[in-house]
Amino acid sequence: MIKRVASLSQLNQQNFIDLGCSHALLLIDIDNTLLSPYDQRISSQEIQWIKNAQVDHQILLCTNNFTKRQSNVGVDLNLPILMRSFKPFPFKVRSYLKRQKADLNSVVIIGDQAVTDVLLALWLGRPYLLIKPMDVDKHWITRFFRILESKVIHDE
Ligand SMILES: [Mg+2]
Repeated sequence: MIKRVASLSQLNQQNFIDLGCSHALLLIDIDNTLLSPYDQRISSQEIQWIKNAQVDHQILLCTNNFTKRQSNVGVDLNLPILMRSFKPFPFKVRSYLKRQKADLNSVVIIGDQAVTDVLLALWLGRPYLLIKPMDVDKHWITRFFRILESKVIHDE
């Protein structure tokens, strides 16, 4: 079973220490991890979580999406963002990290979807933290994947 926590705000430094990653490069998903499908801008709660996480970690936003809604999150947080990342396939993430001279061995993936975020982590051979999606998905394909995922996810 894949373990899942209730929300991003439940994750703290101890979770990263437990993974052996006290100073990590966090690859954080946007849709339904940081930004609800029903919001246009990131909330102050998520902004605060990111600020706290930046005390110990570097952060790269990583999304398969490509609209202004997602790029605004990067602007609001003043963080780098890899759009159209082709998760779960690792090739674009790998080449981005190489270009940035970032250490793949420090990466921890944070996201809300097993078929994209967790699979990416497995393909990269890196740890992940799966969180419950913030809200109900708008797209039927994502809803379909949620049904499949629910068979292998265990909520903590
Ligand atoms: Mg997501």
